[in-house]
Amino acid sequence: MIPCALPLAQYQLLDSEIKSVIHDVLQSGHYILGPQVEAFEQEFASYLGISHAVGCGSGTDALVLALRAYNIGYGDEVIVPSHTATATIAAVIMCGATPVFADIEPDFFTLNPESVEACCSPRTKAIIVVHLYGQSADVDSLVLLARTKSLVLIEDCAQAVGSGIDGRKLGTIGDIGCFSFFPTKNLGALGDAGAVACHDEAVATRVKRLRQYGWDQRRVSVEPGINSRLDELQAAILRVKLLRLDNANVARVLQADRYRTAFKDLPIGLPSLRNGALHTYHLFVLRVNYAERDSFMTHLASGGVGCGIHYPVPVHKMPGFLSSVSLPVSEAIVKEIVSIPLFPGLSIDQQDKVISGVSTFYA
Ligand SMILES: *Cc1c(COP(=O)(O)O)cnc(C)c1O
Repeated sequence: MIPCALPLAQYQLLDSEIKSVIHDVLQSGHYILGPQVEAFEQEFASYLGISHAVGCGSGTDALVLALRAYNIGYGDEVIVPSHTATATIAAVIMCGATPVFADIEPDFFTLNPESVEACCSPRTKAIIVVHLYGQSADVDSLVLLARTKSLVLIEDCAQAVGSGIDGRKLGTIGDIGCFSFFPTKNLGALGDAGAVACHDEAVATRVKRLRQYGWDQRRVSVEPGINSRLDELQAAILRVKLLRLDNANVARVLQADRYRTAFKDLPIGLPSLRNGALHTYHLFVLRVNYAERDSFMTHLASGGVGCGIHYPVPVHKMPGFLSSVSLPVSEAIVKEIVSIPLFPGLSIDQQDKVISGVSTFYA
């Protein structure tokens, strides 16, 4: 079965180099927050074109640290999409703040600025915009809205590392960018890892303090922090992979272009491209008629092609995060979306198998 994503394929391409840096770290005697982490933080910041990057334990923690660095907590409302990974909302709850769900744009599946504006209340403190599937949200409209209303704009770039819009990298446009290096993400570690990126030195310093119990230089907690450190092994592996990130993203774009050409005459929706945006296709998500989706997926599986649904239930409909709000676009599209295999290392033969699976369904 060809999977939707295969982090093993990327690891295998870099096998000997990764083993060599792992060996170096094992011998170094530094295992958490050492020279590898510092070097990765500098290299990642310079890759993004931003002054500061701070490593942490996961993408979820990156969001928690970003919210905490801006003093967002009990009594505060944070506007979020519901059509996203659960982590976006879990992070808001972990800070004690209240998520307020906004709807998405039907073409791009990212936050609809009008819906966000309608969600604003006197308690609103921040917006978390998710650049879903590698696609840029309408981030400039949200920057404007956030400035007008004095809100913090947090970019959830877990699925969009290396993506951009109008020549700027995502994660550098709002107040703070949050990244996940979960193994399947476009820049994947071999375990949990994450980072935040920001222009403001004071914010970076605060995040560094919060990720380690709120300690100052003397290891005295000046505020309550958490433990969310990046370890040396993951940082060393990420440094190896960061050098190949742009190439890996180009491979994704080429695969996406092949799918677009192959499917252009079929009755399926292809990912929309926002003007000026560089989409890096963390996921390639099709839209099919909801009445046919199950048979579409069964047909592909019978041909050895695995598909996924990202995501099957909008977060505001999950028992753990239930809300009575109605989000027509988010609720409609979850019935129609299907993710098909796309990842660096997917061979032409495998991609042809996916294409023929999709085409024969409509033949
Ligand atoms: C993966 C992901 C996260 C969380 O990252 P973890 O490293 O798994 O904690 C947050 N937001 C989005 C949109 C994600 O896809």
